[in-house]
Amino acid sequence: MSRVYNFSAGPAVLPEEVLLQARDEMLNWHGCGMSVMEMSHRGKEFISIAEEAEADLRELMAIPDNYKVMFLQGGASSQFAAIPMNLLRGKQAADYLSTGSWSKKAVSEAKRFCEVNVAASTDGCNFTTAPAQADLKLNPDAAYVHYTPNETIQGVEFPYIPETGDVPLVADMSSAILSRPVDVSKFGMIYAGAQKNIGPAGLTVVILREDLIGETIPGTPTMFNYATMSEGGSMYNTPPTYGWYFAGLVFKWLKRKGGLRAMEEVNERKAAKLYAQIDGSEFYSNPVTPTSRSWMNVPFILANKELDASFLSQAKDAGLVTLKGHRSVGGMRASIYNAMPEQGVEALIDFMVDFEKRNG
Ligand code: PMP
Repeated sequence: MSRVYNFSAGPAVLPEEVLLQARDEMLNWHGCGMSVMEMSHRGKEFISIAEEAEADLRELMAIPDNYKVMFLQGGASSQFAAIPMNLLRGKQAADYLSTGSWSKKAVSEAKRFCEVNVAASTDGCNFTTAPAQADLKLNPDAAYVHYTPNETIQGVEFPYIPETGDVPLVADMSSAILSRPVDVSKFGMIYAGAQKNIGPAGLTVVILREDLIGETIPGTPTMFNYATMSEGGSMYNTPPTYGWYFAGLVFKWLKRKGGLRAMEEVNERKAAKLYAQIDGSEFYSNPVTPTSRSWMNVPFILANKELDASFLSQAKDAGLVTLKGHRSVGGMRASIYNAMPEQGVEALIDFMVDFEKRNG
């Protein structure tokens, strides 16, 4: 069976090399006679897998020593609640930048726990741009500032890291983590669901500055308490062991590929080619301000909506799948994460050119 080019927003394409390695190690990991799925999370084999994955992630992202790395369950969506529970630290209010569907969800959840100051919203322009630093109405007394550097549905990516002074910056990096280097020291917390650039769904990575850990609001469930989770090495309960292992294989793959600088170079090129194709044609369009366009999620619409269904079915016949845009936005969306080879983007572009010739 030949594999397709899968443009899904998540769960998303994984590196073929890593899938093959996981297959080879499936029944008997490193001669121990069992699968990683069958191991005790407290046994020496799994502890070595877990520690190596964390060390590799720390190396890839150059995570400073005063940050904890946690491998949790519950998806990025659980963090929408865990963040106010842990990071309000006696304060009443937090700042949120509302720049698309996911940051809106984070806002709704935070409202259950605190006063939310929406320090910027691009709702008025249908979430087609990132706000400028000068337009952020930040509250110096906020407990933290939350934002979504890359909005997976709208395809909007901040071209800069917001400057928030002494107020910790919290980033939902679900769809951008590992796509290029970032200066972790600029953040109080970074979190991401794994199912885009890290590994299988079911694992959530949290990178948190140590001094922010320790004070929770009354009633915080143990499973949502960062002190409990970080002190126990993410093993207060049974962690998502297979996802953690698989993420470790992806981290090794990234290191072999040259790390995040090398990823940045390829990702920038892949995105530039696809946007150039969209912009160079009257047949396709993308509504996002060019400087705020996502490198990972590229939404585009066809001039004639009636052609959507045949675009999708013919693309599928050509081995290009999961291109349908999110139901809230419509049209198409090509998610081109780290594991999408450049040839996949080129195959999509060739198909788009051909489809336009036949239907434009
Ligand atoms: N934030 C962003 C930016 C996302 O793209 C997603 C998933 N598409 C989520 C949060 C929700 O993640 P999860 O399904 O892991 O809860």
